[in-house]
Amino acid sequence: MKIKVDNPIVEMDGDEMARVIWGYIKKYFIYPYLDIKIIYFDLGLKNRDYTNDKITIDAAKAIIKYNVGVKCATITPDKKRMEEFHLKKMWKSPNGTIRNIINGTIFREPIIINKIPKFVKNWKNPICIARHAYADQYDSVDFSIENKGKLYIHFIPDDLSKYNEKKFTIHHFKSPGIGMGMYNTEKSIYNFALSCFNYSIYKKYSLFLSTKNTILKYYDGKYVDIFKDLYKSKFESKFKKLNIKYEHYLIDDMVSKVIKSNGGFIWACKNYDGDVQSDCIAQGFGSLGMMTSILLTSDGKTFKSEAAHGTITRHYRKYKKGIITSTNPIALLFSWTQALKHRAFLDKNKNLKFFSETVEKSCKEFVERGNMTKDLFFLTEKNNELKYLDTKSFIKKLKIFLQKKLGY
Ligand code: NAP
Ligand code: MG
Repeated sequence: MKIKVDNPIVEMDGDEMARVIWGYIKKYFIYPYLDIKIIYFDLGLKNRDYTNDKITIDAAKAIIKYNVGVKCATITPDKKRMEEFHLKKMWKSPNGTIRNIINGTIFREPIIINKIPKFVKNWKNPICIARHAYADQYDSVDFSIENKGKLYIHFIPDDLSKYNEKKFTIHHFKSPGIGMGMYNTEKSIYNFALSCFNYSIYKKYSLFLSTKNTILKYYDGKYVDIFKDLYKSKFESKFKKLNIKYEHYLIDDMVSKVIKSNGGFIWACKNYDGDVQSDCIAQGFGSLGMMTSILLTSDGKTFKSEAAHGTITRHYRKYKKGIITSTNPIALLFSWTQALKHRAFLDKNKNLKFFSETVEKSCKEFVERGNMTKDLFFLTEKNNELKYLDTKSFIKKLKIFLQKKLGY
């Protein structure tokens, strides 16, 4: 009695330990329960090299076509990996390639389990970071200045009209220093805002935007204005109906508010703030093996989920030597359930929604009852009766636990 899923989902396979666990997840939690068409792309590094990375581009296009993708962790090659895999080229990060094609916002959210202690004790509910993953420092020009002199930023309009030309004095250097020019676009900020509001509604979470608009009156002021206008024109009544709110805070106020809070909201961050704050939040909640990441387009339709961690190379090296590892599969499992929940949302498939939620609830309850991998075990109070499980035992026992919950 498998659950019928009307539309396909796009699966992207990956590398190393994450790939090994990925195989177990499909074998124990997906194939036995779902009648689903999976559009498969092997993004393992060998295959990316073999296809000259065309496979990554094809996968991204398929996600746009089918609206739902689930991705395993993949190696982003560096010099060492070039040698290890005898690569033709140092291929770009698949996540970057996919993000550039799909053009969405990244939301990162921890999986909360009461039994697992958090560094910040009052964080009872997830804090979801929405990162504007476009431009700012990541596409800026920075440089050093060796001599005395004046630094300008000069805007020359394409039509060369003198009227629209602008020249800003940045600094008059009397001694060596450094400088930078950076930008963003209204269109990208607007789409970021739209993604955030749509996701707030989907999650039924309040939304907070942080900026430093007291200092960057035009730059950060633009974020504040765009968010406010969009909220007033399209979202205010929807938010009120759901009893959630939208507010802007100065980033310093926001940081202290977050630390004191119980969680349960979305924090919209500019690109650099999101990079830094998401690692801070992940650590505050406990383990990398419990952090998920999704990419969502501004219309709230196209969705890709994955675990926030990498391919867990250190564990894979042991696995290859035949040593049994205790790697946490939870974020990888939740990347599947989240993708399935989005498929259920788009297709209005109640059975699929129920199944995905049951897998998530069962997994949390399973850990609450003291079944955990090494990373979680070492976070909890030391207890002599408690032992940690290796990866495969964790998965097999969880499958039996789930079977009892589902009744089949
Ligand atoms: P990583 O795979 O996230 O692992 C770093 C360390 O974090 C592990 O050695 C392990 O610590 C711990 N850890 C991470 N996930 C865990 C889990 N599920 N269960 C238990 N422990 C876990 O990062 P990395 O070693 O820096 O990167 C390895 C490869 O992944 C790189 O080639 C990188 O390019 C790639 N990467 C891919 C993505 C992606 O596809 N989204 C993201 C990041 C990195 P201990 O060894 O102390 O147990
Ligand atoms: Mg970072």
